[in-house]
Amino acid sequence: MNDLKGKVALVTGAASGIGHAIAAAYAAAGARVAVADIAADKAEAAAQVMGNGAIGLAMDVTDEAQVEDGFARTARELGPVDILVSNAGIQIIAPVVDLAFADWKRMLAIHMDGAFLTSRAAMRQMIAAGRGGSIILMGSAHSHVASKFKAPYVAAKHGLLGLARTLAKEGAANRIRANVICPGFVRTPLVEKQIPEQAKELGISEEDVVRNVMLRDTVDGEFTTLQDIADTALFLAGFGSNALTGQSLLVSHGWHMQ
Ligand code: NAD
Repeated sequence: MNDLKGKVALVTGAASGIGHAIAAAYAAAGARVAVADIAADKAEAAAQVMGNGAIGLAMDVTDEAQVEDGFARTARELGPVDILVSNAGIQIIAPVVDLAFADWKRMLAIHMDGAFLTSRAAMRQMIAAGRGGSIILMGSAHSHVASKFKAPYVAAKHGLLGLARTLAKEGAANRIRANVICPGFVRTPLVEKQIPEQAKELGISEEDVVRNVMLRDTVDGEFTTLQDIADTALFLAGFGSNALTGQSLLVSHGWHMQ
């Protein structure tokens, strides 16, 4: 199931953290990978290291033309996309009463517009190629639970569940599956940045943020790892039928159980 030889995968936000780990795992499993990121130089450098024909793409997922161009280049150089991982994301920590409208819109644009634009482009290529496909949206435990100071993030991550379920229904006739991975906290730059930010908002130590906020509701007080999420993304990419579609998989040390 984890053999991706002959497959083409496009991963957004793949120059860092979770996206990078997934792209590397796909390349190691034999896929030709397009490493897409707004940080173009880092994407290019990451693709060079991954090998197996990987290419770096300069892509701001909120920009329709950049998304379309990136998918067109991928099709030209690697072939039509079989696997999309819509993963690019940021975090902004602020109480609703202090949140700037521009920050609300930026969060929704990256997480929601980005998922829509990349899913639409991937689906078009998948339908034209007639080989089915796997669309994976990067949700979060925050697709199912809320936390203080993360209103646009929680709203967007909940929204991805609805998008994936709709993609699953519309894609089924063409054997296109759509699922959401919902990680717990993984120690990436996105999380490292918010530990001091949350400590400030809550008036507690950074150690308490980790122990009593981030990992409080897990079954064992452990962070989820990059490997945990890469393994899940490999499983979803390689799954062979429409039996597993429209779902969200929580990989969070039991932070939330559904
Ligand atoms: P990260 O900061 O390590 O990586 C995010 C990447 O996205 C960066 O390379 C960044 O340049 C890129 N990016 C940002 N804006 C972009 C844009 N407009 N277009 C294209 N690329 C853009 O973060 P991460 O922790 O690896 O997060 C990846 C995804 O996983 C996000 O969607 C995040 O919400 C989700 N997630 C992370 C955690 C966690 O604990 N780290 C938990 C649950 C979900």
